[in-house]
Amino acid sequence: MKTRIGILGYGNLGKGVECAVKEANDMELVAVFTRRDPKNVTILTENVPVCHIDEVADWKDKIDVMILCGGSATDLPVQTPQFASMFNVIDSFDTHARIPEHFAAVDKAAKEAGKVAVISVGWDPGMFSLNRVYANAILPDGKDYTFWGKGVSQGHSDAIRRIKGVKNAKQYTIPVESALERVRSGENPELTTREKHERECFVVLEEGADAATVEKEIKEMPNYFSDYNTTVHFITEEELEKNHSGMAHGGFVIRSGKTGMNKEHNHIIEYSLKLDSNPEFTTSVLIAYARAAKRLYDEGQKGCKTVLDIAPAYLTEMSDEDLRAHLL
Ligand code: NDP
Repeated sequence: MKTRIGILGYGNLGKGVECAVKEANDMELVAVFTRRDPKNVTILTENVPVCHIDEVADWKDKIDVMILCGGSATDLPVQTPQFASMFNVIDSFDTHARIPEHFAAVDKAAKEAGKVAVISVGWDPGMFSLNRVYANAILPDGKDYTFWGKGVSQGHSDAIRRIKGVKNAKQYTIPVESALERVRSGENPELTTREKHERECFVVLEEGADAATVEKEIKEMPNYFSDYNTTVHFITEEELEKNHSGMAHGGFVIRSGKTGMNKEHNHIIEYSLKLDSNPEFTTSVLIAYARAAKRLYDEGQKGCKTVLDIAPAYLTEMSDEDLRAHLL
């Protein structure tokens, strides 16, 4: 029997889950839930109902894993514990500093309900976290580096849009190539924030707004831009729509470490992602962990997990025998 998947929250990730489920032979999408009026939410798949979130309890025995696709800022801190009391759930919570408290709230709800929850699944946190842990375990004497981009930062784009006189904006985070090369060479450099990433902004102004004032305000914005080399381009709404509406992203996790009695040998571990679509990649990871959640639940496990707690063999459609024969 196929694993029955529900989607809760239908934004970029919600759509991505639909595509990823289609690729999985062992899964089927059974329903999509939204806080909006379902009549106003059109999904990509035919013959799958869109329901209001208030009806979700009726689906308790009809869904094996609910994939929570709400935003990390305000949706998931509430929704993941709430729905872990009814379903096995997966989320992509990415506020790194708040993961421990989110874990505690979800773990309590899932344990009480006898369900499995997997939180902070995606690429960062997610695949990058896994690679940081593998690399640290293997090279205890070393240094970690994470570079992001080139890709759109939603938070930084929002920060520019809040400036008076700005109509619309997109911000790209770009790793500094020379810093990447220094890390890859095994130099183990101490890098400042400014040396690691630069920021490129594409801004559409309101009529009559002063470009120089807006540019100054962007470049001097504390936390967001003042610690970076920032370039600002002013463009038209049409150009923004045509050239900057994609959702590409990516990055690099690198650990550089030494071994040998006199630390004479250097090793570099590098994991890199170049993603055409951030949400479609993130949801591909979510689907693999949904498969694991179902298996863990079937084994009688309960409570909250992260990607660090789940063995790779649980993620794939392949049997253990096939894995040993082909991927080991
Ligand atoms: P969206 O803003 O597209 O969607 C978030 C929620 O907003 C949806 O679940 C939906 O809920 C609601 N929504 C979406 N579209 C509309 C609309 N037109 N009108 C009103 N409400 C709408 O966010 P994303 O899907 O892009 O991302 C979700 C989260 O995923 C992010 O907050 C981010 O933190 C996380 N993420 C994590 C990654 C990782 O590597 N761990 C990578 C990428 C993202 P509803 O249907 O109930 O209205």
